[in-house]
Amino acid sequence: MKGILYVISGPSGVGKTSIIEGTLKRVRNLVFSVSYTTRKKRPNEIEGKDYFFVDESTFKSMIERDEFLEWAVVHGNYYGTPKKFVEENLQKGFNVLLDIDVQGAMTVMKKVKDAVYIFIAPPSFDELKQRLIKRGTENEIDLQRRLEDAKKELSYIPKFQYIIVNVNLNESIDQLCSIIVAEQLKVERFIERLGEYRIFEEGGKADARC
Ligand code: 5GP
Repeated sequence: MKGILYVISGPSGVGKTSIIEGTLKRVRNLVFSVSYTTRKKRPNEIEGKDYFFVDESTFKSMIERDEFLEWAVVHGNYYGTPKKFVEENLQKGFNVLLDIDVQGAMTVMKKVKDAVYIFIAPPSFDELKQRLIKRGTENEIDLQRRLEDAKKELSYIPKFQYIIVNVNLNESIDQLCSIIVAEQLKVERFIERLGEYRIFEEGGKADARC
């Protein structure tokens, strides 16, 4: 049984990473796809956990070898989702979570019709600005660029299936967990597994759990 692909997008500083980390601790059978990027590593980041940090020529040769499910230039750096990791895990039956920008989400939408698209939005633009300033990971130029880009990103909201307005971290984690579980319980997804649903047979049980 193939897993489900969950695509999370939202402006920089909205709290995606914290929501995703909280969700990964609570939902079983869910794996996070670590992206490749040419952005410089931040002091608190761990290679292979937050990103695979590569130089531009390595990234470009990966594009040439068609190793990305999607890739995009975001805030002036390259970011890409490793195709092999995602496909192998979905094939094994794991649900896979992507944290990618709106351009990447649009690319995945064209390729993966049954993925689930979730946008994380800030309560207000001012709040987003304050969170980015407080995070303190960008210099002034990068900060302004991320705020400018946020305006464009918010215009993509109607293309998504779900929206979480991140006012409170725990509530947002609850909401993301609910979306993930509800999608797994959809009859249209279960129908593919009806062959495994054997409660009417002698000694049979419903082994088509999510
Ligand atoms: P940051 O530099 O703050 O870690 O991430 C900047 C933006 O890049 C975020 O919006 C994040 O969702 C996005 N991003 C991270 N990985 C990928 C990826 O593999 N592909 C795309 N298209 N965007 C990504």
